[in-house]
Amino acid sequence: MATEVTMDKIVSLCRRRGFVFPSSEIYGGLGSSYDYGHYGVLLKDNVKARWLEAMVRERDDILALDSSIILHPRVWEASGHVGGFTDPLVDCRTCKQRFRADHLADPEHTELHCGKRPSKRPGETPDCDLTEPRHFNLMFRTRVGAVEETGVDVYLRPETAQGIFINFKNVAQLARRKPPFGIAQVGKAFRNEITPGNFIFRTLEFEMMELEYFVPPSDAQQWYEYWVAERLAWHLRYGVREANLRVRPHEADELSHYSSGTSDIEYLYPIGWSELEGIANRGDFDLTQHTNESGTKLEWVDAGTGERFTPHVIEPSLGVNRSMLTFLIDAYDEEVVAERERTVLRLHPRLAPVTVAVLPLITKDAGMVAKAQALRDELRQHLSVEYDESGQIGRRYRRQDEIGTPWALTVDEQSLTDDTITVRDRDSLAQERISIARAREYLLERLGEPWAPPPRTT
Ligand code: ATP
Repeated sequence: MATEVTMDKIVSLCRRRGFVFPSSEIYGGLGSSYDYGHYGVLLKDNVKARWLEAMVRERDDILALDSSIILHPRVWEASGHVGGFTDPLVDCRTCKQRFRADHLADPEHTELHCGKRPSKRPGETPDCDLTEPRHFNLMFRTRVGAVEETGVDVYLRPETAQGIFINFKNVAQLARRKPPFGIAQVGKAFRNEITPGNFIFRTLEFEMMELEYFVPPSDAQQWYEYWVAERLAWHLRYGVREANLRVRPHEADELSHYSSGTSDIEYLYPIGWSELEGIANRGDFDLTQHTNESGTKLEWVDAGTGERFTPHVIEPSLGVNRSMLTFLIDAYDEEVVAERERTVLRLHPRLAPVTVAVLPLITKDAGMVAKAQALRDELRQHLSVEYDESGQIGRRYRRQDEIGTPWALTVDEQSLTDDTITVRDRDSLAQERISIARAREYLLERLGEPWAPPPRTT
């Protein structure tokens, strides 16, 4: 029987091992807000690093950008977010819960439950008293300026994309190439989400990894298909199981008015199939809007031939935190080994918060401790290493399994005489002996190998 992965198990592991804590807990917590502890920070950083690698480092056609969180308020008028960026919501006057109208209308959203009778969907019991769908603005508003009366209303950005569009001219000059080329950005975004969050799936603040890929208008469809395939391949490359992923093209009535195609990469979360990443063919809507609103022409001009056009934009947009949650869920496994249960995160080695644990077998043995610490100091220059000398070796292995450390190096008695160590593999539990001198090379080699998740077990 395969391990059943529930959101409760993930929440409990995250809390127990310090990946994610409820925010402001000593004040009673704040809904849909979370703080990230040590392993959460390391895992989240690795998710961002793998994305930037795939988007920027491994390519010649994409440049990086880091724009401000607070932009000129007219940016949001041009983009249509002021006034337009709302999800119609439905309130239940009886149980006081709030639901997204589009989710309520969609039977695939099986996570919606009546607040009084959770076995029923909202609206299914005679006591349910639902309002008509109403609009709420999802942008957080604040003020710039020392004096409240004379300040200017500004917004915390609900996406990073607009910061990219308004920098199109700056970056296009730097890129010195004709479209296709892209601009990639990772950064915080804020949305006044009103519906319940499902842990870090939907939060008030989160990080986004967004690419705006500018293409000649006639090539837009082809590049849209390319990016859907490319982004799906990224999730698979870092170990998400193929059976748990699907691409769902939006129906015509779901599309934004400017989009000629949008696909969601969906994942089978414990709450059901839901959006992991969105890829949209946005046409020339954004550049045209900002050109009209700002008076600055955002277009491609060939200095030599004078050829000019407004590029179309393909946008893959992924939440860092939602991606991290997906990797955690997909990696979670429980199994019984030698009559003892273990919880293991079978994370891709290049995502795991700690790449290698270094453990002296007998912690009272000064020789083993010294050798293990010297190995730790050497490996630490290249990899994320954790040294652990507290408790029995079996316990220490299990602690590493739970945070997804792919390899553990153990210094034992034999190490003192022949300078070898054992390498324990998190997934197969196989142990092999290698020389200490080769440890670094061995790990770097293993890290470079393609990796696929082993099947879930019990
Ligand atoms: P949803 O339908 O889930 O609200 P959306 O269609 O509004 O998402 P987009 O605007 O396409 O989302 O955002 C792009 C990506 O950003 C999403 O695929 C998701 O990974 C992430 N994301 C969006 N909103 C949130 C949130 N409140 N918390 C965490 N991640 C989010």
